[in-house]
Order: sequence, then structure tokens, then C-alpha cells
Amino acid sequence: MPLNYFAAIISGSMKIAIDGPAGSGKSTIARILAQKLGFRHIDTGAYYRWVTCRALDSGVPLTEAEAIIQTAEHTDFSRIDEARIRTQEVSASVSAVSAIPGVRRCVVAQQRQAAAQNNIVMEGRDIGSVVFPDAELKIFLTASVEERARRRQAELAARGETVELAKIQAKIAERDRQDSTRQASPLRKTPDAVEIDTSGLTIEQVVDKIMAIYNEMKVV
Ligand code: C5P
Repeated sequence: MPLNYFAAIISGSMKIAIDGPAGSGKSTIARILAQKLGFRHIDTGAYYRWVTCRALDSGVPLTEAEAIIQTAEHTDFSRIDEARIRTQEVSASVSAVSAIPGVRRCVVAQQRQAAAQNNIVMEGRDIGSVVFPDAELKIFLTASVEERARRRQAELAARGETVELAKIQAKIAERDRQDSTRQASPLRKTPDAVEIDTSGLTIEQVVDKIMAIYNEMKVV
């Protein structure tokens, strides 16, 4: 492992994969880790959200797989609109779009290209299983659906939106169901991933745990 560690860092190919369901803390944790390590952060959910926006904007029915694949193939991922992709409309539709195998093929190719020649922290649902099965470090974050709904409610409240907890919980549970039961690259923990249950932990505590695991990779 130490040899792999130094070889990966020097050649700019160190991959840290962070997978987990909605609200498990992936985005915040991946961003902080990337900052601490000086790595590039890649949020792969944003890619699927952006294809969903483009499809909604062009009026393509989400059931028309071929048309959605065409949309994905013509999407410019350097122009992702961060505010647009976080709307409830997009959150409610993205799992249908991301379940289409042709969309995934196109998006995964873009994600691998974005990672090329970079040490990265990449977060999503299938990073350790499909996008980078040979990632040097794989983390799988979980948290109870209740805890994840509370976090999402607090995030929305911070943006001035008041949404009932039960409604948020039902939406998260539905997205979990769609993401983990789809045929193409379902959300799952690979045997070589380290699972961390983030329920009851602060962001800092989770980051510290991952940093400790990461630092162990350097020990000869
Ligand atoms: O991570 P986030 O919640 O923003 O992801 C939005 C959606 O994109 C997920 O619910 C899932 O359907 C899809 N996704 C995926 N594979 C990834 C990342 C996200 O299927 N690697």
C-alpha cells in the first residue's frame, strides 16, 4: 500500500471514492476532504442532476429513454448551474434519469475524463463499484433515514424553506428505493469499502475518521 500511495500521489492518480445515499453527508465531507488534501472534488450527482435539468428544459418526457440519452450526449458538463440542479423538481426526477443505462454510460465517461490526471475525491453512488473500482480508498457513508431527513430539513430551513419532516423523509426513502433497486449500477457498498455510519457524528468527526484511514495508507 505505501508504494501504491506514493506512486498514486506523484502520478496524480489518487482516487478517493465516497459513496452513500442522499443526505448521508457525502457532499460536505467530500468537499472538506478535497480541500484538506489539495485534491479535486467531483460531485457526480451534479452530472445526473444537470442532465435532468436539460431534459426538463427541453420538454423531453422522462419516460423517453432514447431522447434522454441524446440529451445526455449533448450536455455540456462544464456549464452546470448549481442553483438550478438543487431544486425540488430536479430532486424528484433525477432518479428516473440516472436509472437509464445509456445515460449512465455517457455520464460515467465524462466523470472519468474529469478525473484524469488529477488526485480526486469523487462522491456518488457507484464510484467504488463502477466509475473507479480500483480507487485507492473507498468510503461508504450511511445514516438512518430519519437523521438524513432532519439534515435535509435543516439545509432547507437555512435557505428559508419550511418543509414538513415526514414529507422530506418520504421523498428520501423513495429516492433510496429507486437508487438501490435499479438494474444499472445500483447503490451498494463494495466489500473493500470502509462503512461509516454518520448518525450522531459531526461533520468534523467523520472527516477525522476518514483522514485517519487515509493517513494509515502512508505508513510503511
Ligand atoms: O448525490 P445526489 O443526491 O445529488 O445525487 C442525485 C441523484 O443522482 C441520486 O439520487 C441518483 O439517482 C443519481 N446518482 C447516481 N450515481 C451517482 C451519483 C448520483 O445514480 N454516482
